[in-house]
Amino acid sequence: MTPGVDAAAVTAWLREFARLVAENKDLLTELDSAIGDADHGINMDRGMTAVSAALENESGKTPAALLKRTGMTLVSTVGGASGPLYGTAFLRMATAAGDAEGLDGESFAKVLRAGLDGVVARGKAELGDKTMVDALTPAADALDAALAAGKPFGEALQAAVRGAEQGREATIPMIARKGRASYLGERSAGHQDPGATSVTLLVTAAAAALGGGGA
Ligand code: ADP
Ligand code: MG
Repeated sequence: MTPGVDAAAVTAWLREFARLVAENKDLLTELDSAIGDADHGINMDRGMTAVSAALENESGKTPAALLKRTGMTLVSTVGGASGPLYGTAFLRMATAAGDAEGLDGESFAKVLRAGLDGVVARGKAELGDKTMVDALTPAADALDAALAAGKPFGEALQAAVRGAEQGREATIPMIARKGRASYLGERSAGHQDPGATSVTLLVTAAAAALGGGGA
């Protein structure tokens, strides 16, 4: 039996997310310059750099402890809307992970959905409001559906990535109804949402870091 997504796997996931955020920092900021205040890449990179540093001292912990540390670090280091939203997502994920040493596919899917529920509880965005919810929802739905269809975890995570990517693309024509971009009204249409883009990186990082685990 493999332990599934254990603390080492969660650490690998978070480090891969930090790497992808750093790699896409300019893209995220460019997207935010079109419909926001040009800081999403800077915000996320600052936060995930702090998370990477915090993880150095967290070996031997449970997945929940790492997720909680991540959420608290993001809340305290990221300004703007995305800090509390990502922070709440990770804190809710920690609660959902409980005291398990390792998560199987179904448990990981519940953890991801708890993160989505946290974003919705905090930001009150609905599908179609042009936010990170528009990418995270189809990702969580695709993960659940693939696991219910009996797909291996790695394949199910790939399906989640495709769900996130489709959701991210679908934000382009949307008119923003939440966050800074909503101040632009109809002028927000025609631009990809920065938060939907960064959350797609989170799911992509999960597929890259956890997909081979055979959980
Ligand atoms: P700020 O808008 O404060 O500058 P960021 O630029 O870091 O913060 O993040 C912007 C992203 O936050 C948006 O692209 C959107 O996806 C997300 N966002 C903003 N408000 C909400 C909300 N109420 N619910 C979910 N996501 C939101
Ligand atoms: Mg911004």
